[in-house]
Amino acid sequence: MQTTDQPILRDIVLIGGGHSHVVVLKHFGMNPIAGVRITLICTDMHTPYSGMLPGYVAGLYSFDQVHIDLSRLAMFAGARLYHDEVIGIDRINQKVLCKNRPPIPYDQLSINIGSTPQLHNVPGAAEHAVAVKPIRNFNDRWLQLLERVKTHSGNTTIAVVGAGAGGVELLLAMQYRLRNELTKLGRNPDELTFHLLTSSHTILPTHNARVRRWFNRVLAQRGVHLHTDAEATRVDAGVITTATGQQVQADEIIWVTRAGGAAWLKQTGLQLDADGFISVQDTLQTVTDPLIFAAGDIANMVNFKLEKAGVFAVRQGKPLAENLRRAVAGTALEAYKPQSRWLALISTGDAYAVASRGWLGFAGAWVWQWKDWIDQRFMRKFSEFAPMSANATPHPTLPTPVMLFSSVLKNLCKPSLPLPCAAVAVVPKWVPACCKTP
Ligand SMILES: Cc1cc2nc3c(=O)[nH]c(=O)nc-3n(C[C@H](O)[C@H](O)[C@H](O)COP(=O)(O)OP(=O)(O)OC[C@H]3O[C@@H](n4cnc5c(N)ncnc54)[C@H](O)[C@@H]3O)c2cc1C
Repeated sequence: MQTTDQPILRDIVLIGGGHSHVVVLKHFGMNPIAGVRITLICTDMHTPYSGMLPGYVAGLYSFDQVHIDLSRLAMFAGARLYHDEVIGIDRINQKVLCKNRPPIPYDQLSINIGSTPQLHNVPGAAEHAVAVKPIRNFNDRWLQLLERVKTHSGNTTIAVVGAGAGGVELLLAMQYRLRNELTKLGRNPDELTFHLLTSSHTILPTHNARVRRWFNRVLAQRGVHLHTDAEATRVDAGVITTATGQQVQADEIIWVTRAGGAAWLKQTGLQLDADGFISVQDTLQTVTDPLIFAAGDIANMVNFKLEKAGVFAVRQGKPLAENLRRAVAGTALEAYKPQSRWLALISTGDAYAVASRGWLGFAGAWVWQWKDWIDQRFMRKFSEFAPMSANATPHPTLPTPVMLFSSVLKNLCKPSLPLPCAAVAVVPKWVPACCKTP
């Protein structure tokens, strides 16, 4: 942990407490670098863990079980934590611009802010639909809906727009929870109606036919009205209109479609892809600015086509930490190669899950238990910290200017340095190196 009597020689600023940055903070907590100050700026003090979100909605986990307490983690890492929203970057003066505080200087900057739902693309969606992100807003709305369904008598219709894994999982979790709540109150759970809309020809388009068939069967068994080839083109109060003119009435409309990058990134001058995600190299450094890194959903690795999933955000945490460490030390960065295939564990709300990998698919209560075990183990890494010994040796101190200069010269002659030993093991070794649930 950083001690107060060391002069601050470098500032690493982390924007967003996403899945990659929590791994970075844990890494720096376990392997501090003397003279380096870490600052985390985040709109959330408790960051949600996506893998367990449907389980929380289903009522299988509490709020605390699915959120990482950033203040505890930052304290462990010896980092400053600012509860604020970043609204820009002054790259010329190397400063981060926040909504509520003066600009924050950086030497190295990393962005892990997730993706932003693109509601403005569909007229009326921003006014009449609820986006799943930011999760804190969705959670507020979800708690209100839960209360409303319990207290108001009569039918309620809920429509989910977007039938990727997130949309399907969320719908099944909401349905399971709300039906349970009505049953507990002695009411008829069939007062609830669910619609699932997708612009694609099929649900779960990135998964194999077996898994799709399985979920189609579950949706049919649970009485969900599935609308494929139904691109939502307009939303009015309580009505979704699709490209074919079909209208779906709903009391609550939840938006879980493909998202994009935050609007403020457009003013940073960083290269963005067509969806507004930041283009990064294999080192996770932005293509535009070597002082700025990006990871997780917001990053678009230009040499790899990755699904937007928490598993990739988590996996990028370790190489990101290592490269931030190398960047402040002035040594050569390492290229990171993401896994090409991954196992998705998709839950059905009722403590049951389906595993999907390539052409393979299998399901069962044991798949849920396996997922639950992986998820809980992951979360423990961010709530149970091994006590740091009082005289823990910090990582080698920052190099002097002479060391930096000679290191740069050395790297110019020999660009690939051997790998140093690395830090946090995020997923147990026996779990296939590919789990969707990080
Ligand atoms: C219902 C649902 C279920 C899912 N289930 C899974 C799953 O089981 N497995 C899986 O791999 N993926 C899953 N996903 C996808 C997963 O949610 C994302 O891929 C993942 O959250 C991306 O992580 P991230 O670290 O990039 O960003 P996030 O987890 O979105 O974190 C970004 C953080 O940055 C903060 N932030 C944002 N903007 C700013 C700003 N301007 N200033 C300061 N802070 C900011 C936010 O508050 C947040 O804390 C699911 C998605 C949904 C919707």
